[in-house]
This record gives sequence, C-alpha cells and structure tokens, in this order.
Amino acid sequence: MKKNCKLNLILFFLVGFLFTSCLIPDTRFSGQKEVRNNYGLKIIETAEEYNHSVDLDSNCRMINLDGYIQDLKFDIKYATKSNFTKQAVYDEAKAFVRLPVAKALKLVQSELSGNNLGLIIFDAYRPYSITLKFWEMYRDTNFVAAPWTGSRHNRGCAVDVSLYNLKTGIELNMPTIFDDFSEKASWDYPNLSDEKLANRTMLINIMGKYGFTVYPTEWWHFDFAGYEKYGLMDIPFSYLEEN
Ligand SMILES: [Zn+2]
Repeated sequence: MKKNCKLNLILFFLVGFLFTSCLIPDTRFSGQKEVRNNYGLKIIETAEEYNHSVDLDSNCRMINLDGYIQDLKFDIKYATKSNFTKQAVYDEAKAFVRLPVAKALKLVQSELSGNNLGLIIFDAYRPYSITLKFWEMYRDTNFVAAPWTGSRHNRGCAVDVSLYNLKTGIELNMPTIFDDFSEKASWDYPNLSDEKLANRTMLINIMGKYGFTVYPTEWWHFDFAGYEKYGLMDIPFSYLEEN
C-alpha cells in the first residue's frame, strides 16, 4: 500500500470516528456494554448519554422552540385529546428540536412573518416510549412509526406543522385536520379546493427551502435533512426543560 493511501485510510477512519461518535449514541465513555432494546435499537435514555452527546457536538442540543422563535403558535396535539389516540399522551405541551432544526425553523418563520403568516407547531420531539405506545394503538406504518425503526420525531428532527394568519391567529384552510389518517392527508391528494391546494403547496415549498421534506401520507409532517445522524431518544421533556 502506498504511503498516501495509508494516510488517506487513517484520515477516513479518524473523520468517520469523530463524526459518528458525536451524533450516534454510544456508551464507550462510561465503560458500559452498549445496551440495545428488544428491537435492536440503541436509545438515548439517560441524562448522562444525552449530556455526553451534547458535549461532543453542540448540534445535538435540544432547543425549546417556545422562546427561541417569535411568532410561532403552539398547539401541541398530543398534550390534548385532539389526536388519533383521543387522549393526552404528553404530560406537558412542549416542543423541542435539535439545534440545527431550530435554526432552520427560525428562517422559515422569518420569511413567513414577512408575509403575515406563522407556523403552528402540532408536534416536535417525541420520546421513543410514546412511539411504542402509538404502535400498540395503531399498527399501520403509513401513519405510525414502527418500533424497530423509531420515528424521526424521536431524533428531534421532525415537526408537524401548519400555517396561520398572524393577524387573526386563525389556521389557513388546509386539506385535513391533524392526524387525519385518510388519503386526503397525502401530500399530493388532488381533489381539494384551489385554496387548500395553494396553502398546502405554500407550506411544502417554504419548508423545503430550508431543508425539510414532507412525509408522503401526512401533509403536516416534515423531516429535517440529515436526521439519520442523530440518535433516537427517550428523554422526558422535564429534563430537557432544565438542561
Ligand atoms: Zn409527524
């Protein structure tokens, strides 16, 4: 092997190690054996693991959107009965996302504010244990994340959103209500009024401009680019609130 090749190989592994070690959870620091759940997933579920990931990479920090971005409206559906479970599954109405996701949402809102519009946040980070609960209630991977993959919400890299009029505070006319599991919720369902089609397109376009991709079966769900680099978490809102 040539010297250059060797050097490149070493550099490749070094960069790979640095990159993955800060974003994917591990237990090397504590000397413990890595623990995986029944589905073979590593879940960040202790304060120690979460803090360690943030120490290694500040992008792993979870940001409370309330206070971070002006003009956002919060309607955290899983803290109410207005969701498919018909019960409040969150103790608190909170919306956390990873730092780069929060920064991107800030840019989205800034552009929307110029047009007298705002984002309504229906959901953001969702602890993995809630995803398990959803799966027990509704075993359809078109609408509920499978426990063997987890949800992008568990990574702090997905948001459920809509648009509202900043002056009136009223949501724009959208194709369906949140958690409507019918074909009307598809991102490209065609048989809608011109107004609903235009509003949905506006939402998808502005989110897309800042790195978010709409989920095919839910016009309100958006995944942030690079979500796979961030670990699945089962850290309660209360801990994130304090740290
Ligand atoms: Zn969602």
